[in-house]
Amino acid sequence: MIIAVDGPAASGKGTIARALARHYGLPHLDTGLLYRAVALTVERLELDPAREADAVAACDFDESLLADPALRSDAVGQRASIVSAHPLVRAALLQRQKRFARQPGGAVLDGRDIGTVIAPDADAKLFVKASAHVRATRRHKELTGHGADVAFDQVLADIRARDARDSARSVAPLTMAADAALLDTSALTIEASVARAIALVDARVAGRG
Ligand code: C5P
Repeated sequence: MIIAVDGPAASGKGTIARALARHYGLPHLDTGLLYRAVALTVERLELDPAREADAVAACDFDESLLADPALRSDAVGQRASIVSAHPLVRAALLQRQKRFARQPGGAVLDGRDIGTVIAPDADAKLFVKASAHVRATRRHKELTGHGADVAFDQVLADIRARDARDSARSVAPLTMAADAALLDTSALTIEASVARAIALVDARVAGRG
């Protein structure tokens, strides 16, 4: 079974995808990490994320980078949304994601274009959303919880900038697949969001969704 989980930054899609993978006993790929690894490599090589050739050169990153905690910062997330808009970067990362999706037994993948481009034939597709304000509140709490001194308005502005870039790009923009089930987590706890996600996937797989 292939489960595609898409949605904007801080919507809860990563947490939901991990919980679904545990629940159904499937391997999970956070595809955002691939774009973040490209962005971090661009930064470390002092290249320009806005130049497609520079970003493509960084697609050949070392696998060990995927475990680097530096990938998780908001600054890297912003740069990831710049490198991810280059068609050749998306092409360079495509096959690896498709292979992961098609492995025997299936998989859970989360990102922006899983249901539309990477696994259009997925058995279940979820599009996870939450208002920008709710997402910024969650992200701000997470950042300040880790000791970061960052203003709420800055976090909200960053989320809006990333949404705009991810939605406006010409290749594989952030958009809900026509056959995806919508899950709005704005007013839900993590536990309630996961329970709802499992119910939606079960309904899809049973042919009722
Ligand atoms: O999900 P995450 O916030 O880690 O993703 C970082 C950035 O990578 C996103 O803002 C988006 O630009 C890009 N991305 C993408 N397609 C995916 C996953 C992530 O373009 N499937």
